[in-house]
Amino acid sequence: MKINCLSCGHNIVLEDESYGDYEGAIKCYACGAILEVKLSEGRIKSVNLTSIDAAAKKSKLRV
Ligand SMILES: [Zn+2]
Repeated sequence: MKINCLSCGHNIVLEDESYGDYEGAIKCYACGAILEVKLSEGRIKSVNLTSIDAAAKKSKLRV
């Protein structure tokens, strides 16, 4: 799946093998912003800009 970084607009490509059903925080490797991804039936439902603190609290951070 592909996510557009809400902070810098960079296209983040996530490998389906690793991230096909991944829900949670994704770090933009271009600008370092943390994006919270929510899925619905394997498709991206929403992407929200979040902070590293908020993401770490959910202990799902994958950087
Ligand atoms: Zn970015």
